[in-house]
Amino acid sequence: MVTDGHNHTKHFSPDAGQSIDELISEAKAKGFTRIGITEHYEVDYPDDGLDWTFDLNEYDKVFNDWRIRAGELELLKGIEFGYQTHVAEEIDRLAAKIPFDVVLLSVHLFRGKDFYVDRECYKLPAKELHGEYISTMAEMCEKCSNFEVAAHYDYINRYADNKSDFVTYEECPKEFDRLFEALISKGKALEINTKSIKKHIDGGFTRNLPDEGVLNRYRAMGGKYITLGSDSHFAGTLAVCYSEAIEYLKSLGFTETVYFKDRKPYFEPL
Ligand SMILES: [Zn+2]
Ligand SMILES: [Zn+2]
Repeated sequence: MVTDGHNHTKHFSPDAGQSIDELISEAKAKGFTRIGITEHYEVDYPDDGLDWTFDLNEYDKVFNDWRIRAGELELLKGIEFGYQTHVAEEIDRLAAKIPFDVVLLSVHLFRGKDFYVDRECYKLPAKELHGEYISTMAEMCEKCSNFEVAAHYDYINRYADNKSDFVTYEECPKEFDRLFEALISKGKALEINTKSIKKHIDGGFTRNLPDEGVLNRYRAMGGKYITLGSDSHFAGTLAVCYSEAIEYLKSLGFTETVYFKDRKPYFEPL
């Protein structure tokens, strides 16, 4: 079973509803031998009444107990840092504070605003919106060094109203090339986020699976590292759309994905 490397619990992520015990039992029931826990940590996030930071040493301590509770199920100790230009150095510093298996970086804001809450950005022409979002992801991968995975490059599509809105390579090739150049030269991975796929299916979007132009170009430029993550926040959503994503990757000629342990990549056949 390909590792699900992106999951949240209510113990450290303020927008998650599942407990570690629920996640552990679900992972075992679904046949996993290994999953990643990647709690949200946002430095200097716009105030939305939630606390997006936590004590890293406390997390490190609690994680030891989680590993005991998980028994044979291997838990990868991860974190998902939210990127903004002015917090790049702070993220690199925090990522070195405790021994993580894997560090994910994400862009959850557009021009400083959370587009889950404020949908104003969706009035922009799609090409401009997507180009700017991907160029922020490229900047993130250029400025930060202490990470393994660039998470959900298609997050900008999640809350769009326009059902044909979908980030494609064709729309912003320069921005994607810049992102891939940074990832590949630094030995980092591109995530395929299966919650994005689920959101598109549920939202009735005209396209559901990641743009093949994006994945083909990543591979053509020399990208070898792809991770899979369901980004689960609630019980019942671990590995959502996993079989669709795996079949799709295979159909494009991909043969393996990676997971990270002790900050090193390990290949898994698809
Ligand atoms: Zn979240
Ligand atoms: Zn996440």
